[in-house]
Amino acid sequence: MLTCKDFLGWLNEYLEDTADAETRSHLNEHVKACPNCWVVFDTTKKTIQVFKGMEPQEIPDDVEARLMDALERRMAAGGAPPAG
Ligand SMILES: [Zn+2]
Repeated sequence: MLTCKDFLGWLNEYLEDTADAETRSHLNEHVKACPNCWVVFDTTKKTIQVFKGMEPQEIPDDVEARLMDALERRMAAGGAPPAG
């Protein structure tokens, strides 16, 4: 099982569909089992879609940093699943 750090390290590849099949299946398992990473994954996917609608570029560093920060705060708060 991947750790959340591993998952986040692969997030770009996962979103871009460039991770190899074995890694993808581990990422799939993690995101299904981990509400925190699911939120990051879902948010990042939407963010990328917005950015792709404007100009071709990867996730800006500050967005990535904010997601990381949000994740850490969620985990510090006890890893409760998001409401709704
Ligand atoms: Zn996770």
